[in-house]
Amino acid sequence: MCKFFSVLMMLFITSCLFAADVLNMKLGKFDVTAINIQSMEHNKKLFRYKDSKALENFLNQQDSASSAINVFYVDTGDHKILFDTGINAKELAEKLKNIKIAPENIDIICITHTHYDHITGLVDGYNKMFPNAVIYISKEEFKASESSDIFKLYKDKIKTFDKNEQILPYIKTIPAFGHTVGHTMFEITSDGQTMLVWGDILHAPIQFQDPEIFLTYDTDPIQALSVRKKVMQNYADSDKYIAGAHLLNCGIGKLQKNKSGGYKFIFLKTDNK
Ligand SMILES: [Zn+2]
Repeated sequence: MCKFFSVLMMLFITSCLFAADVLNMKLGKFDVTAINIQSMEHNKKLFRYKDSKALENFLNQQDSASSAINVFYVDTGDHKILFDTGINAKELAEKLKNIKIAPENIDIICITHTHYDHITGLVDGYNKMFPNAVIYISKEEFKASESSDIFKLYKDKIKTFDKNEQILPYIKTIPAFGHTVGHTMFEITSDGQTMLVWGDILHAPIQFQDPEIFLTYDTDPIQALSVRKKVMQNYADSDKYIAGAHLLNCGIGKLQKNKSGGYKFIFLKTDNK
């Protein structure tokens, strides 16, 4: 990592809380908190690649299948926004409490897609976990999940959006269909700084080495692969931050191209691991 990049990283991290499962940073005027809900390991049998021998070598690398579930909280001053809600309402509630965020104060929740590891945190038993929140979700994804009990509960609070819609002056939706029918990324911008909340563009560290490696979670693997390659190509070596639901170390950093044709993710660091 070049010196200039390191200095920039240091400047942007304003503080780190005591728990290693939380990372705070400033994005322009906004306060961003990445919250790791849990760490996990993917079953190696779920990985697919064009070359099975090469895949075996990839999977033999340390941490090749390590993963996480992260959610991202952004305080813009006028809104308190959560991006995805993770897999476990109790754990999410506990982690929000640790960083002094009351669920009733969250007024917007942006959902990348409706897999259970992204929406389960919306409900606490049979009740809304976020009684005052409006839920933003793509038209395509909502259509496919409308009948889910979770969305029935939030019925009057759902706002669907189109592809590339500016849902707020500083949040734009970017379609990344393939992982699911309406999987969507969100680009947040403040004071010239941008962060892409990319949802499930990838699931495990070895996919940085070759984006053609995928897991069987993708609804349409061919479309997902093409989207993953395009997104990584577009965001690599840019100034934009990436926030990933399944990336390690709380999931925020920047993407760099490496000489072998793959990518490297430069994580913002939690300071007390
Ligand atoms: Zn996921």
